[in-house]
Amino acid sequence: MDSKELTQYVADLKPEKAIWINNSARPATSGETFPVIDPATASPITDVSSGTAADASAALDAAASAQPGWAARTPRERAEILRRAWELMIASSKELASLMSWENGKAYTDSLGEASYAAEFFRWFSEEAVRSDGDYAIPPAGGSRTLVTARPVGVCALITPWNFPAAMATRKIAPALAAGNAVVLKPASETPLTALAIMRILKEAGVPDGVVNLVPSRHSAEISNTWLSDPRVRLVSFTGSTPVGRTLLGLAAPRVVNTAMELGGNAAFIVGATADVDAAVEGLVVAKFRNGGQACTAANRIYLHKDIKEEFTQKLCQRVTALKVGAGLDPETEIGTVVNEKAKTRMNELLSSALNQGAKVRAQAALPQDLAGYFVAPTVIEVPRADSPLLQNEIFGPLAPIKEYSDEDELLKMVNGTEMGLASYVYGDLNWALHIAERIEAGMIGVNRGLVSDPAAPFGGVKQSGIGRESAREGMREFQEVQYFSLDW
Ligand code: NAD
Repeated sequence: MDSKELTQYVADLKPEKAIWINNSARPATSGETFPVIDPATASPITDVSSGTAADASAALDAAASAQPGWAARTPRERAEILRRAWELMIASSKELASLMSWENGKAYTDSLGEASYAAEFFRWFSEEAVRSDGDYAIPPAGGSRTLVTARPVGVCALITPWNFPAAMATRKIAPALAAGNAVVLKPASETPLTALAIMRILKEAGVPDGVVNLVPSRHSAEISNTWLSDPRVRLVSFTGSTPVGRTLLGLAAPRVVNTAMELGGNAAFIVGATADVDAAVEGLVVAKFRNGGQACTAANRIYLHKDIKEEFTQKLCQRVTALKVGAGLDPETEIGTVVNEKAKTRMNELLSSALNQGAKVRAQAALPQDLAGYFVAPTVIEVPRADSPLLQNEIFGPLAPIKEYSDEDELLKMVNGTEMGLASYVYGDLNWALHIAERIEAGMIGVNRGLVSDPAAPFGGVKQSGIGRESAREGMREFQEVQYFSLDW
């Protein structure tokens, strides 16, 4: 897609009418808009409607009206609509990928991968929609029968981040719809255009009016307060940072609203003495630099056994120095930008404070000289102290801190010494790697593999990384309530 076609594609999305209710686009009731910025040039792409409490309520009215009719559709009807959404999303994956690279800044190849990953949730949950089962049992004392089944939870409020603007939306919309729920969605204000494109795909796929509604807004709290104080909302499903997750849990408490929280990470990447060093380096390049390091599952702390540390570091440094950083839309780019000026400043501050505490830069990729955007150089940093800010905080960018270890107990103390527990990675011979993996406090562990996300596998964390699971069968259950019937016998 050239820049003229992309500009036309965005104009056709009608961003000035980005409030999507009952399958039709409208401006915000206040008339307010906010700019979406191209992170590669720091210049505006377009203005998007900024919803208010009135728009949030109107979206909820539509969802509440659509809920009973959608729940009453047969599982097969819901499945066929979702399957069609998968087909349409695959057919438009190049346009979607260009759009994501433009508003998010990520490399086009990353965006293309995300488009197909995001679409896959529609296919997976179209298959899951018709497999919702139940139980029939004879209680120990007899005299009755127990029938257990699942029903839709009810209207769901979905709130998504900017780092995977398509996949984080479809990972919630697909199971919610498969289970028979209507939804209201607030996308991140950095990336509302991708969400708007998904609305059009869902309409074309045959999703009935009111089943999926979208309220982009620069006033996030106003939207979530409106939804969470309304008794018609039965579940809030959030992906984003732990602090915002805490706020939403607080808002959900008074009415005991169901919550599904996919929050921050601080993944350890462990390379043991018996690891295949070349495979581990390649695994790390994926786990650390995919999406420019802006993934909740991104390798955040790299622990290297002393016996392989120098070989691994030298090979990693060679790979990192050669990474091509540039505008996401440039087909040669391997690493795009970080999302905004604030993220870039944060990276620079984290790096300087680590350097002030004795860390050393081992390698750095070159930055493009001709672009004014939010570029941060992929950097390998050797960190001598376990309490370095680079190891203690979720970096969410292309900085790769490495720390040597020699003893397993010392290693596990460092690995588990965090309040986060989303993902981690272990490289080494299988016996050893599993022995370590089982002792890691995290929801997902890559064993000799730098990627854990899969629509067919339960995604989620322990400790302050969240509550509940997305994807897979577990992801569908989040959007269902168990109901049981006690039958006289
Ligand atoms: P964020 O928490 O700042 O924003 C996420 C969403 O919440 C956005 O839509 C934002 O507009 C909205 N929001 C912000 N403040 C709000 C408020 N007071 N009330 C209601 N909504 C509010 O997170 P981010 O910066 O967009 O994303 C990065 C974070 O998300 C990282 O911590 C990352 O680890 C996490 N994340 C987690 C997963 C996961 O599956 N566990 C996946 C992707 C990202």
